[in-house]
Amino acid sequence: MAAKRVFFFGGGKAEGNGAMKDILGGKGAGLAEMTNLGVPVPPGFTISTEACNLYYRYRGKLPQDVKAEISANLSKLERVIGKKLGDPKNPLLVSVRSGSKFSMPGMMDTVLNLGLNDKTVEGLAQKSRNPRFAYDSYRRFLMMFSDVVLDLPKGNFVDIFDEKKLERGAAYDVDLVAEDLMDLCGKFKALVKERLKREFPQDPLVQLELARDAVFRSWNNDRAKYYRKTNGIPDDLGTAVNVQAMVFGNMGDDCATGVGFTRNPATGAKEFYGEYLVNAQGEDVVAGTRTPHQIRDMKKALPRVFDQLMRITAKLEKHYKDVQDFEFTIEGNTLYMLQTRNGKRTTAAAVKIAVDMVKEKLITKEEALLRLEPQQIDQLLHPVIDPKARLDVVARGLPASPGAATGAAVFHAERAVEWATEGKDVILVRKETSPDDIHGMDVARGILTAKGGMTSHAAVVARQMGKTCVAGCDAIDVDETTNRFMVGGKIVHEGDFISLNGTTGEVILGKAPLIAPAMTGAFGVFMSWADAVRRLKVRANADTPRDARVARDFGAEGIGLCRTEHMFFAEDRIPIMQEMILARTMENREAALSKLLPMQRDDFKGLYREMKGYPVTIRLLDPPLHEFLPKREELMVEVTKLELIHADRSIIEEKKRLLERVEELHEFNPMLGLRGCRLGIYYPEITRMQARAIFEAACDVTREGIRVHPEVMIPLVSMAGEMRAQKEIVVAVAEETMRRHKKKFPYTVGTMIELPRAAVTADEIATEADFFSFGTNDLTQTTFGFSRDDSGKFIQNYMNRSELCPQCGAKLEKDLSCAVCKVTYTKRAENILQADVFATLDQVGVGQLVRMGVEKGRSTRPGLKVGICGEHGGDPKSVEFCHRIGLDYVSCSPYRVPIARLAAAQAVLREKKPGKGGKK
Ligand code: PEP
Ligand code: MG
Repeated sequence: MAAKRVFFFGGGKAEGNGAMKDILGGKGAGLAEMTNLGVPVPPGFTISTEACNLYYRYRGKLPQDVKAEISANLSKLERVIGKKLGDPKNPLLVSVRSGSKFSMPGMMDTVLNLGLNDKTVEGLAQKSRNPRFAYDSYRRFLMMFSDVVLDLPKGNFVDIFDEKKLERGAAYDVDLVAEDLMDLCGKFKALVKERLKREFPQDPLVQLELARDAVFRSWNNDRAKYYRKTNGIPDDLGTAVNVQAMVFGNMGDDCATGVGFTRNPATGAKEFYGEYLVNAQGEDVVAGTRTPHQIRDMKKALPRVFDQLMRITAKLEKHYKDVQDFEFTIEGNTLYMLQTRNGKRTTAAAVKIAVDMVKEKLITKEEALLRLEPQQIDQLLHPVIDPKARLDVVARGLPASPGAATGAAVFHAERAVEWATEGKDVILVRKETSPDDIHGMDVARGILTAKGGMTSHAAVVARQMGKTCVAGCDAIDVDETTNRFMVGGKIVHEGDFISLNGTTGEVILGKAPLIAPAMTGAFGVFMSWADAVRRLKVRANADTPRDARVARDFGAEGIGLCRTEHMFFAEDRIPIMQEMILARTMENREAALSKLLPMQRDDFKGLYREMKGYPVTIRLLDPPLHEFLPKREELMVEVTKLELIHADRSIIEEKKRLLERVEELHEFNPMLGLRGCRLGIYYPEITRMQARAIFEAACDVTREGIRVHPEVMIPLVSMAGEMRAQKEIVVAVAEETMRRHKKKFPYTVGTMIELPRAAVTADEIATEADFFSFGTNDLTQTTFGFSRDDSGKFIQNYMNRSELCPQCGAKLEKDLSCAVCKVTYTKRAENILQADVFATLDQVGVGQLVRMGVEKGRSTRPGLKVGICGEHGGDPKSVEFCHRIGLDYVSCSPYRVPIARLAAAQAVLREKKPGKGGKK
């Protein structure tokens, strides 16, 4: 028997269920599950994601057996509901909606009121005894079908509609009467004929086929592809198509439509939350054309239905054990649930809801910890406006997504991208946003809209992105053609600075001072659960006492990497560093080093004091020395200029000496040259000075009664001999310093493993090293042979090849044609990389070297302490890998410490329940 591709739901029973998201998509699975729970759902059927994939496989043609299944299900629907598609007397109208496994709000297409034509509209008018409603539905259908299926944009119809309103002096859509709408339908059809040179399709079966295929195609529109890419959703899942009997919220005053959440999606508070409109269809609520009412007002207007809605949604929340984002329609005082899904929420809300639901015994602590993507925590770490600041608040809109942002006002998504690429902070200001603005929203610091409610596109998408958003701010008058907005008699032009407070809805002129957030309340509880579960320790990469303090506040359990070179770049130190580099004798070099010693000692004291006994891993000088000197080319120009103006001879000579030394130190491949441990071996006095600073500082801080735990780390080791040579110096200085100061404290000497040879010979190196820390930045660079500094361009190409012309690299059109080469391809090129290997560890290649390094290292030194301090230490997927291969700790930038803490906890939980959570 052929596989089933179409699944019926309705009449109290469904062929699918909530667990079948893979084939029914989220919406279809939700409808089936609701049906099975006895929730009132209009009947219909779901054409599976597999059918979508067949549609693509057969290049836009659906196999005959699937078509037959659809036809049989349509007949069943007609039987269950007692109406027929295209029946002029009693027509069945359906909605045709997309729905993939992962929710992609607003990215794909939907057609409502399908089945209407010149004949059925009359039938509907008679049957409902409401010609206004019938023609309102028809004009909506003509507009939506033309936009989605016939590629004739909605704007054309809106213009005609607005003209009509003007002509009739109508303030709102509802002020137009049946005759107006009838006239509009005629005009809409004429527009289709004029533009497309064909009649609007009148046969409902043809309409259904065309709409079904358009929904399938919308899986691959640019918005959907962009959304999938930014959210890590695979491209090959496909969308299901839900064909469902229409119920009408626009048949009169006992009808309504609305959307809502079982808890507040912005704060997480346990309160019924949402918006509704009387005598309207669903699109009106989200489009922002009419301002909706608060859902709690429905209690007065429609009390019985409100109670029923409360009961049903509470039941759904309990069933799904998560906040529900639902859509409903009331037709003639009868409630229908159209959709339910786990609600998107801000991170602050997600944490509160997870903690509350554990208290309510709805979920366990472990389940709560898996409810957040670690990366989401970033949103909690965003700044807020300094409460003490004086602000020029000019307007207040809806507090759609919390946090604060400041930036230059821009009025178009393209400009936002352009300016953000130049490194500018921008705030995207729009009348209202649409999915076409998503790339601009992605790069903007914040989003401000003049129209729309808390569930408008801008609000929903911004919350999900963790962006500050003020929506529906009707005090601002946005002019997107002249790129400015008016507010209270003032004009804000493109480029003027504005600030937003997404928690209060305030719009502020100028740059508001922002301050870093503190983590308290529910977040503290949540993170304490993560800490109780995780095995990996989390440290921070920090070079200054200030960074170390932030790291401790975020829960770091030590410093995993202090890059000592950063300390030498300070203005007062670089001349001494240059003096040291320029010295030609050891004596002169030591003289310069002795000036650096007290400075380094103070640096380390600051770190020890902040870390209060937690380990502090200090890495000896790593970069090639010329990084501290002026650039060769710049010096050459300077010398020439000085000679031309006959400057003082002694100045010219000094510059020439500097140039000579720079030329001596010049290397063709500095990253593979005299750097890392090679420096300390070549100039042992540098290592001696740094070791003295490390241990003298430790003695001094011990004297203050603070425990210290220095770990000295030798960089870029590839042979055991290198490690031995450097360790000897460090140990000798350590022992001598402790003897001299009569102090004793634990210390260790270990190495970075950041070269393939080090990983491969880790057993030998471990005989000399007390600990390993994987420097996966250099290890990635040297394993792939990709320059850390120059590979951005081609890595982007490797990741996006499926979007590009394989011949010229231009972006391909929707139909896979290249506008430059004038070629149309039959298939996309393969992406060579799925992620940037400098951000997410390449587990297949570099990761295997790490695994080998750990195993070999521990084979000769059982219990060897092993960590990672490359950028990957703060990347959730890489953290999970580090857990799996048995590392002791990860070290990352201070702001990523909480992300790593959660990722480490999730790694333990996923190990217990393989396959749980995550999109991949
Ligand atoms: C590394 O190479 O991964 C590392 C942490 O060191 P750096 O980035 O300073 O080279
Ligand atoms: Mg390195």
